[in-house]
Amino acid sequence: IRYAEGKGWYDARVEARGPIPMDPAAAVLHYAQEIFEGLKAYQTDDGVTMFRPEANAARFTASAQRMAMPALPEDLFLGSLHQLIEIDRSWIPQGEGASLYLRPFQFATEVFLGVRPATEYLYCAIASPVGSYFTGGVKPVSVWASQEYTRAAPGGTGAAKCGGNYAASLIAQGEAAAHGCDQALFLDAVERTYVDELSGMNVFFVYDDGTLVTPPLTGAILPGITRDSVMTLARRAGHTVQERPVSLTEWQEGAVSGRIREAFACGTAAVITPIGVVKSPDGEFTVADGGSGEVTMRLRQELVDIQRGRAADDFGWVHRVL
Ligand code: PMP
Repeated sequence: IRYAEGKGWYDARVEARGPIPMDPAAAVLHYAQEIFEGLKAYQTDDGVTMFRPEANAARFTASAQRMAMPALPEDLFLGSLHQLIEIDRSWIPQGEGASLYLRPFQFATEVFLGVRPATEYLYCAIASPVGSYFTGGVKPVSVWASQEYTRAAPGGTGAAKCGGNYAASLIAQGEAAAHGCDQALFLDAVERTYVDELSGMNVFFVYDDGTLVTPPLTGAILPGITRDSVMTLARRAGHTVQERPVSLTEWQEGAVSGRIREAFACGTAAVITPIGVVKSPDGEFTVADGGSGEVTMRLRQELVDIQRGRAADDFGWVHRVL
C-alpha cells in the first residue's frame, strides 16, 4: 500500500514476493525512517488465529507517530494480514511451536536528500513459516550485560519498533556472542545501572514472595505485547506485579540471597524463556539454580495454551482469521 502526502493511502495490492525497486536517493536508505511489527498466525482446532493483532496495530501507529510518519489505519493493517493469510492457509505450519510469522513494515520512499520527514511511503507485509523457537524443549538463555553500549536513551526512539534501534543494538549482540551468551542485555543509558531489556525481549523478575517485577515503560524500552499479556495473567493468578527499576546489582544480590528466585524474558518469538546466566564485564552469576523456574514455566504454559486455543480466551486476545 502506498502513501503520498495530499493523496493518502492508495494502490493496495497483493503480489508475488520479489525485489522492491528503490531509487538510490530514497529517504529510508539515508535517514532510516522505517518501522515494523512482528506477530504470528496459528493453526488451532478452532481455525486460523492471530494473537492480539490489534495491539500490534496500535504499537505500529505509535511507532509511526514517533518516526514522523503517517499512521496506516488499523483496518488496513489488519486487512493486509488477513489477505496474506487467506491466500493459502496451508502456509501456516501445523505442530507444537510452529506458526506463520507475519512482518508488516513501512518506510520512506520519497526521493530526496535532506533531513525532514518524507512525503511518500510504502507499507508492506511479508510472511514466513517458522518452527519452534526452542529445539528439544525450553532452555534457559544466557545474557551479556553490556556496559559500553546502550540501546536507547530517554527522549529517543526506544519505545518505537524501528530498524534504527536494532542497528544500535547489533554491536552489543556481537559482544554477547563473543562471551558465549545468547542475548545482549541493555542497561539504562543514563546511569548504566538499571535493566532495560534484551535485544529482542522484555525482562521479568520473580521475587521470593511471589511478586513479579518488570522495568517500567520509560520510553527507552519497547512496550512488548507479551510483557502486557504476562502482567495480566500474573495478576489474575494472584501475583503482585510491579513496574519499577531493578538494578543489575539488585538482581545479582537477589539471585545470591534467594530473594529473586527466577528471571525470564518474553517476546513474540520465544513467548517466555527463563534466563539462566548473567555475564557482565564485572563477572557472572546464575539465576536461582540456572534452571527453569516454576512461576516462569507456569506462565509460559498458560500463555501458550491461550495462543494455541487450548485454554479459554478470557481476555479476548485471540483473533480469528479463517
Ligand atoms: N523488546 C524488543 C527490543 C523487541 O524487539 C521485542 C520483540 N518485538 C520485545 C521487546 C517483545 O515485544 P513483543 O512481546 O511485542 O514481541
